[in-house]
Amino acid sequence: MSALHEKFGLTRVINAAGTYTPLGVSRSPQAVRQAAAQALGEFFVMDELQDALSARVARLTGAEAAVATHCVSAGITLSVAAAIAGSAPERIAALPDTNGLPGRIVLPAGHAVNYGHPIEQDVRLAGGVPVLAGSEAGCTEAELDEALGRAGTGALLLVSSRLVRGAPVDLARAVALAHRHNLPAILDGAAQDLRIDELLATGADLVLVSPHKYMASPTVGLVLGRRALVAAVRAHEKGIGRAMKPTKEAIVGLLAALEEREALDLSAWRREQDAKVAALVSRAGALRGLRAEAIADPAGMPLRRARLHVDPQSAGLDARSLAHALRGGDPSIRVMEHGVSEGVLDLELVPLTAEEIDAIASRIETLAGTA
Ligand SMILES: *Cc1c(COP(=O)(O)O)cnc(C)c1O
Repeated sequence: MSALHEKFGLTRVINAAGTYTPLGVSRSPQAVRQAAAQALGEFFVMDELQDALSARVARLTGAEAAVATHCVSAGITLSVAAAIAGSAPERIAALPDTNGLPGRIVLPAGHAVNYGHPIEQDVRLAGGVPVLAGSEAGCTEAELDEALGRAGTGALLLVSSRLVRGAPVDLARAVALAHRHNLPAILDGAAQDLRIDELLATGADLVLVSPHKYMASPTVGLVLGRRALVAAVRAHEKGIGRAMKPTKEAIVGLLAALEEREALDLSAWRREQDAKVAALVSRAGALRGLRAEAIADPAGMPLRRARLHVDPQSAGLDARSLAHALRGGDPSIRVMEHGVSEGVLDLELVPLTAEEIDAIASRIETLAGTA
């Protein structure tokens, strides 16, 4: 890493903020990097790459078919396009002008997340009209039922993410409700790629994941599910999807990442992650004014994060100042800051080496241990 950072004068980063797009999302393993680099020197029949990917994903997950898009943001837009306009060439060419086709897309209000931009914008880019059901506090089945009844030939968009707010919506029951109205259900599980089986088991017609997050592929989106809808998503490559196309190196890199995933020993991986979190929790928790614990991912990904509770009185600085100081050093250490106003910092250690975790612990000791 440091060769590139030095050559181009770039900030060196230790990313404990998760699979975060503004920091480059993830680090690909050697096999994935090699595959992507090799692909850059070759021509391919791009349709064959998509076919090979679809067959491989179907074999691995049991989904009927799959298609790669530029990323999940693109995948949401193209899934909505498929739900609204299907595969008819003249409709594909007309989008985002829907020419009067009903395009209401229902979302539980707490699922209208902002993952760097509002998810409703992905819907609007395809000519869809986002309709929020319920409130931020939650969405009852009656509220969802009522909104779906008004949706015409729209669809239900559900999100499985730690960003979701309010009382949890039972995803399988919500999908069943959409099907009772003869509407397709699209499930955004972008950062949930270790739970693909569970997401497919909800009965959702399309499930979306970001392989560049925990699967550490090059930037790409994966849309899996029912054959006809996946085919429609792919058909929109000749429409608005032109600006959302996956690259050859991304698809080949994804094929390599799927191979790595297939070989993954998940329980050994979890033990390794837990040991990294335990090491940081024990060092940071020993400091005056800091309490540290391991916390589970709220959306159900099988990983824990280190959580620091900062008591400004005895630590000598508050959570916001600690995050600021970590960010300002070299290398710049980035943590999850969504809890700063409650005195909380979360650190995700999955992509980090023992040396990097040691560097984080030492920096925290210097900043907070001296009060
Ligand atoms: C990351 C994320 C996205 C966007 O995924 P990209 O592949 O980066 O476009 C969408 N939804 C959720 C819930 C996410 O976490």
